[in-house]
Amino acid sequence: MIQSVEQLCDFVDLSADDLPIDFDSAFPFKVPKHFANQIEKGNPNDPLLKQILPGLAEQDLYPGFSPDPVGDLAANPQPSLIHKYHGRALLIASPRCDIHCRYCFRRHFPYEQAKKQHWQAALENIAQDHSITEVILSGGDPMTLSENTLIELIHEVEAIPHVSTLRIHSRTPIVAPQKAHRPTLLKALSKSRLQTVLVVHCNHANELTPESADLMQQFRQSNVFLLNQTVLLKGINDSADTLSALSKKLFSQGILPYYCHLLDKVSGSGHFDVQKQQAWAIFEQLRQALPGYLVPRFVEEIAGEPYKTLLTDPNSQDIKPTA
Ligand SMILES: *Cc1c(COP(=O)(O)O)cnc(C)c1O
Ligand code: SF4
Repeated sequence: MIQSVEQLCDFVDLSADDLPIDFDSAFPFKVPKHFANQIEKGNPNDPLLKQILPGLAEQDLYPGFSPDPVGDLAANPQPSLIHKYHGRALLIASPRCDIHCRYCFRRHFPYEQAKKQHWQAALENIAQDHSITEVILSGGDPMTLSENTLIELIHEVEAIPHVSTLRIHSRTPIVAPQKAHRPTLLKALSKSRLQTVLVVHCNHANELTPESADLMQQFRQSNVFLLNQTVLLKGINDSADTLSALSKKLFSQGILPYYCHLLDKVSGSGHFDVQKQQAWAIFEQLRQALPGYLVPRFVEEIAGEPYKTLLTDPNSQDIKPTA
């Protein structure tokens, strides 16, 4: 771990005095050494650096940005379980992350709720609801749990007969692959009756390394499907070339792009927002540049909608067909 912003600046050969840093941010700085290692030295505009450096721009107010834009608090009937969509329920497995991403839509979420003693209630709720066939472990980041705790949780999910799919959402395999390499977990997954999907979270090709490639191969050998989700971020990955390079590198490591999320409008992240018009233009260019299976679905999360909403052409005047 890098301990402080000052230490990070030293590490990447930048002077903290020259950068617009917010040293008192309520969402603390956190980055693993592996991720910091991929930052280009001496470049204040590095796309990885921008994801983690607490900036003064976070204090700027933007219209339409709020602490809980996706309605997670409203959809949270009990601590640790978010059941918004048919067939799948999301279990907040851990309150922690290995990295703090400045754009994160959960930066204001009351994670202290996600304690191990709340799992039992969440699991009982899933056991009683036969419509739930997929359990999503999310957070925070489930990989911040100890290997044994995570395996124990997976066994509890396996014990619910109507659940057939386990999905793990984690950024740890990308930002700290050494930490995500857990032989006993891999073995448990390879032997599990559950279909398992690992959705990693990578925003830029520079985040992918020989170490992440090795780890992904281990997951694939354990019968785990690998998908990626990205957040579209201004100044970081808001071009077709950058996203095309990301898709190709993901594929070279055995990962298919799944979602490219438009930014959730959470307070403190307005400076990362990409306008819909531009997002659509990038999507169109990507479709021309890549085979369909390497084009992520561009989506936005609209509170109250029964799925993540696909981005449509903002220029189109089409009227929705009526029944
Ligand atoms: C995004 C999300 C899911 C998963 O949606 P998919 O479209 O299946 O990937 C499930 N539950 C919640 C609460 C979510 O936010
Ligand atoms: S790892 Fe995911 S949940 Fe954690 S801060 Fe980053 S984006 Fe948010």
